[in-house]
Amino acid sequence: MNYELIFVKIIHRILISILNCFISCTVKRDSDILVIAHRGASGYLPEHTLPAKALAFGMNPDYIEQDVVLSKDDVPVVIHDIHLETTTNVQELFPNRCREDGRYYVIDFLWEELQKLKVTERFDARTHQTVYPKRFPKDVATFHLHTLSQELEFIQGLNTSMQKNVGVYVEIKEPQFHRNHQKDISKIVLKTLAYYGYTTKKDRCVLQCFDAVELRRIREEYQSKLFLVQLLEIGYLDAPFQNKSTQNIVQEISEYADGIGPWYKQLLPGKNQVTIDGFSELVDLAHQQQLKVHAFTFRADDLVEFSSFEALLEKAKTLKLDGIFTDHPDLAVTYLKKKNH
Ligand code: CA
Repeated sequence: MNYELIFVKIIHRILISILNCFISCTVKRDSDILVIAHRGASGYLPEHTLPAKALAFGMNPDYIEQDVVLSKDDVPVVIHDIHLETTTNVQELFPNRCREDGRYYVIDFLWEELQKLKVTERFDARTHQTVYPKRFPKDVATFHLHTLSQELEFIQGLNTSMQKNVGVYVEIKEPQFHRNHQKDISKIVLKTLAYYGYTTKKDRCVLQCFDAVELRRIREEYQSKLFLVQLLEIGYLDAPFQNKSTQNIVQEISEYADGIGPWYKQLLPGKNQVTIDGFSELVDLAHQQQLKVHAFTFRADDLVEFSSFEALLEKAKTLKLDGIFTDHPDLAVTYLKKKNH
C-alpha cells in the first residue's frame, strides 16, 4: 500500500474541504440580510436612549439607527419625532411651552433645556398609556436625550473597545419643516457625519430620508458620497412619487440613491389594508436598478397576520430583502444569521 499517496490524497481532501467551506461561507455571508437596530434595541429599552443603543450594540447588528431633529440652537438631537410629548416629560417640566396645536416641538427648545427632560417608553400623550404595553415600563429608571455627536462617539468607542465595526444609519427628519424654520438640517447632519469620518460608502454609514427632493439635493447639491436610502411610505408620501408607476418610482430613485426603504406591510399582497397594488414587484424592480432594499419595521410584538416573529423574518427572505429595520435585533440576528452559517 502506498501510504505516501494516501497521505497526499487525505491532505488534498482536507485542503479542498477547507477551501469549499471558505468559499461557501463567503458566498453565504454575502446573502445575509442586514440587521438594522431600529432606534436601538427599542423593543427592550426606551427608543433612542444611549442604553438602548448599548444593548443593541451587544446584539451584533450590522447598523444602529439614529433619527435626527434640530434644537432651537441648531444642535442635532437623536429623537424620532419633531415633537416631545410622546417620549418625554415635557408637559410636566415645561407646561407653557406648547404651541396652539397643543404640541411641544423640539425646535422650540434650546439643547440646554432639552437635556433636562426625562425620556421614557413611547406613550399616547392623551391617555398616557404606552404604545407597546409589554415593553419597558413607563416612567421607570432615568433616561435622557443625547446629540448625534454623542451617539457617534458612543458607537465608535464601542467599536474600538469591542473590536467591531457596527455602522450608523442616520435619518434626516422632516427637512421641509426645518426649512420653514430657516434651518438646513441636511447641511448640519452632513457636517457632523464628516467630522466623525463618515463621508463615503466605505465608511459604514447610511443616510436615509423620506423626502425625495431633499435626498436628491443631498446627492446633487451637496455632492454627498454616502450610501443614500430613499424611504417610502406610499400614502404618507410624497409629491415626487404621486400617481407614478412602481417602475418609474424606482427608476427615478436610482438616479440619486443607492437603496430604498419601503414599509414591509405594503409589500404583502392581501395581508392588510396598507398593501399597495403593484408594490409587490417593488423589490425585483429595485434590484434591477442595483438598488438595495431595506424594509421597516419588523417587531416581535406586532406580527400582522404572522404566527410568529420567525415566520415574519422568513418572509423577509422570501421578499428577497437586503436588510430589515427591527426593534428586536437579537431575535433577527439569531434567526437570519444562523440560517446562513
Ligand atoms: Ca427612522
